[in-house]
Amino acid sequence: MKRCSFCGRLESKVSLLILGKEGNICNNCVNEANVIVQEDEVSKSNFDVDSLELLKPKEMKGFLDQYVIGQDDAKKVISVAVYNHYKRLRSKISNKDDVEIEKSNIVLVGETGTGKTLIAKTIARKLQVPFTIVDATVMTEAGYVGEDVESLLSRLLQAADYDVKATEKGIIFIDELDKIARKSDNPSITRDVSGEGVQQGLLKLLEGSVVGVPPEGGRKHPEQKLVSIDTKNILFICGGAFAGIEKIISKRLNTQVVGFNSIKDSDKLERENMLQYITPQDLKSFGLIPEIVGRIPSLTYLSPLDGASLKRILTEPKNAIIKQYVKLLAMDKIKLQFDENVFDFIVEKALEYKVGARGLRSICETIMIDAMYEMKSDKNNVLKITLDYAKSRVKMSKRLKVA
Ligand code: ADP
Repeated sequence: MKRCSFCGRLESKVSLLILGKEGNICNNCVNEANVIVQEDEVSKSNFDVDSLELLKPKEMKGFLDQYVIGQDDAKKVISVAVYNHYKRLRSKISNKDDVEIEKSNIVLVGETGTGKTLIAKTIARKLQVPFTIVDATVMTEAGYVGEDVESLLSRLLQAADYDVKATEKGIIFIDELDKIARKSDNPSITRDVSGEGVQQGLLKLLEGSVVGVPPEGGRKHPEQKLVSIDTKNILFICGGAFAGIEKIISKRLNTQVVGFNSIKDSDKLERENMLQYITPQDLKSFGLIPEIVGRIPSLTYLSPLDGASLKRILTEPKNAIIKQYVKLLAMDKIKLQFDENVFDFIVEKALEYKVGARGLRSICETIMIDAMYEMKSDKNNVLKITLDYAKSRVKMSKRLKVA
């Protein structure tokens, strides 16, 4: 009679016995062994701060420039923050004086579709520390439906392959931070499920504390073993549209700088890009608690994208949409060419439908779908997209009208 070489149970007493050359193992022992392996991985670390290659802020910005059009201010701030984060991690080891470099969490404010996530994702390609992007809207106060604030750390832990030491030096990008702002103008909310309670939870992480984290994420279950993570050295980068914050900024500027009755001046300011004047005070007025604002000292903005920027986005970035179509057709030995004014037309439509950079792809797709289906090229293997063709495609499309 065969039995498990580990627990000794007979084959008839287990649901599965895996037979080996020298011994056998039952399904129960496989599961237990798996748990031991996982626990072992959590306690081990291959992370070595000294081996981090320091990419100078200018080099990092240069890398970002290949993928992100414009938004120089935000790219600079992030590049410096990441560089300082690395230096800070290193200085812990070699520091002989008493100067402790404090971390500088960042918040990126800008309309949706202006490149906040793109910057975060692009920087992630160059990072040598664990990195994750999470959405602030999934977090709710403990006890409500949704995820606990600790789930941010679960994601980072997963990104770090359960290496705790590496996790504690990682970077978390929190998207849609504005969605957890206090909604003070809505008195009907008696219990602010997604507001201040979540901010308090987040504050705990930003301030730096040791947190029990469920390795698999989601809610804490009593039976789940928690992993302790110290958040002191984790860098937080936050992003948010903060819709309507321009009004707060203009109101502040108006009372502070211009005075009460210069309505004309305020009108002029309104029309300019207000975000460049943003200060932490405006985030407070928007509904972030002062303690959170104090923990995110680095504040930067992304400008709305105008037509010229949209046109550049179509063709310039390393993986620009147009370059992707050219590559797709080149795989069939077809040379794809566009009339220059086709790009202007696409941008015009994106502005008309108010879909921003995010909508460029669906407009291109509408124009390209039949061409990619037919794959008709001339005798020189050239497929040319003319303005008339592009116009006719968009005119026929029902899809775009609802975009
Ligand atoms: P959000 O600011 O809402 O996070 P995203 O970064 O997700 O916006 O932008 C959506 C898409 O629009 C990106 O995937 C990218 O294709 C395009 N895009 C937006 N802004 C830029 C930019 N500045 N440069 C290049 N592409 C951009």
